[in-house]
Amino acid sequence: MPKTMSKISACEVTDCAYNMNKECHTLAITVGNSECAFCDTYTKMNQKGGASDVIGGVGACRESDCKYNESLECNAGNINVGSHSGHADCTTYKKA
Ligand code: SF4
Repeated sequence: MPKTMSKISACEVTDCAYNMNKECHTLAITVGNSECAFCDTYTKMNQKGGASDVIGGVGACRESDCKYNESLECNAGNINVGSHSGHADCTTYKKA
Protein backbone atom coordinates (compact mmCIF):
# COMPACT_ATOMS: atom_id res chain seq x y z
CA MET A 1 0.00 0.00 0.00
CA PRO A 2 1.31 3.50 -0.77
CA LYS A 3 2.24 5.70 2.20
CA THR A 4 1.45 8.88 0.31
CA MET A 5 -0.94 9.72 -2.46
CA SER A 6 0.59 9.98 -5.95
CA LYS A 7 0.31 13.54 -7.23
CA ILE A 8 -0.79 14.75 -10.64
CA SER A 9 2.21 16.63 -12.04
CA ALA A 10 0.31 17.96 -15.04
CA CYS A 11 -2.96 17.52 -16.86
CA GLU A 12 -3.33 18.51 -20.51
CA VAL A 13 -7.13 18.24 -20.44
CA THR A 14 -7.88 21.94 -20.11
CA ASP A 15 -11.63 21.67 -20.71
CA CYS A 16 -12.09 19.78 -17.42
CA ALA A 17 -13.79 21.74 -14.62
CA TYR A 18 -10.90 20.89 -12.27
CA ASN A 19 -8.15 22.06 -14.62
CA MET A 20 -6.47 25.42 -14.07
CA ASN A 21 -3.29 26.21 -16.03
CA LYS A 22 -2.74 22.53 -16.87
CA GLU A 23 -2.85 21.53 -13.21
CA CYS A 24 -5.53 19.43 -11.53
CA HIS A 25 -7.15 21.08 -8.51
CA THR A 26 -9.47 18.46 -7.08
CA LEU A 27 -8.24 16.59 -4.00
CA ALA A 28 -8.21 13.16 -5.60
CA ILE A 29 -9.12 11.48 -8.86
CA THR A 30 -10.10 7.90 -9.57
CA VAL A 31 -8.35 6.26 -12.51
CA GLY A 32 -9.44 3.40 -14.70
CA ASN A 33 -12.45 1.85 -16.34
CA SER A 34 -12.87 -1.30 -18.34
CA GLU A 35 -11.24 0.16 -21.47
CA CYS A 36 -8.23 2.22 -20.37
CA ALA A 37 -6.53 4.28 -17.65
CA PHE A 38 -9.34 6.82 -17.82
CA CYS A 39 -9.55 9.78 -15.40
CA ASP A 40 -12.99 9.00 -14.01
CA THR A 41 -13.13 12.41 -12.32
CA TYR A 42 -12.93 14.34 -15.61
CA THR A 43 -15.87 16.74 -15.60
CA LYS A 44 -16.94 18.86 -18.53
CA MET A 45 -19.15 21.77 -17.45
CA ASN A 46 -19.05 25.56 -17.55
CA GLN A 47 -18.49 25.92 -13.81
CA LYS A 48 -14.91 25.59 -12.54
CA GLY A 49 -14.33 23.36 -9.51
CA GLY A 50 -11.60 22.42 -7.08
CA ALA A 51 -9.41 24.76 -5.07
CA SER A 52 -6.54 26.81 -6.46
CA ASP A 53 -4.23 25.87 -3.57
CA VAL A 54 -4.79 22.12 -4.02
CA ILE A 55 -2.78 19.92 -6.39
CA GLY A 56 -4.70 16.77 -7.23
CA GLY A 57 -3.68 13.28 -6.30
CA VAL A 58 -4.68 9.75 -7.26
CA GLY A 59 -7.23 8.60 -4.70
CA ALA A 60 -7.73 5.20 -6.29
CA CYS A 61 -6.76 3.33 -9.44
CA ARG A 62 -8.56 0.34 -10.96
CA GLU A 63 -5.76 -0.44 -13.44
CA SER A 64 -4.56 -3.56 -11.66
CA ASP A 65 -2.31 -4.51 -14.61
CA CYS A 66 -0.26 -1.28 -14.34
CA LYS A 67 3.30 -1.75 -13.07
CA TYR A 68 2.71 1.03 -10.51
CA ASN A 69 -0.51 -0.46 -9.13
CA GLU A 70 -0.55 -2.31 -5.84
CA SER A 71 -3.81 -3.35 -4.22
CA LEU A 72 -5.69 -1.00 -6.56
CA GLU A 73 -3.68 1.97 -5.33
CA CYS A 74 -1.18 4.06 -7.34
CA ASN A 75 2.47 3.90 -6.30
CA ALA A 76 3.94 5.92 -9.16
CA GLY A 77 4.65 8.95 -6.97
CA ASN A 78 3.68 11.40 -9.70
CA ILE A 79 1.50 10.94 -12.75
CA ASN A 80 0.58 12.90 -15.87
CA VAL A 81 -2.85 13.04 -17.47
CA GLY A 82 -3.46 13.70 -21.15
CA SER A 83 -6.10 13.51 -23.86
CA HIS A 84 -6.82 10.22 -25.56
CA SER A 85 -9.69 9.62 -28.00
CA GLY A 86 -11.74 12.51 -26.61
CA HIS A 87 -11.33 11.71 -22.93
CA ALA A 88 -8.70 12.04 -20.19
CA ASP A 89 -6.21 9.24 -19.56
CA CYS A 90 -3.38 8.66 -17.12
CA THR A 91 -0.37 8.72 -19.45
CA THR A 92 1.91 7.28 -16.76
CA TYR A 93 0.06 3.94 -16.97
CA LYS A 94 2.42 1.17 -18.01
CA LYS A 95 1.33 -2.39 -18.48
CA ALA A 96 3.24 -4.64 -16.08
S1 SF4 B 1 -6.71 14.91 -13.85
FE1 SF4 B 1 -8.87 14.45 -14.34
S2 SF4 B 1 -10.09 15.66 -12.84
FE2 SF4 B 1 -8.00 16.50 -12.84
S3 SF4 B 1 -8.04 18.23 -14.32
FE3 SF4 B 1 -7.34 16.39 -15.45
S4 SF4 B 1 -9.18 15.47 -16.33
FE4 SF4 B 1 -9.85 16.91 -14.72
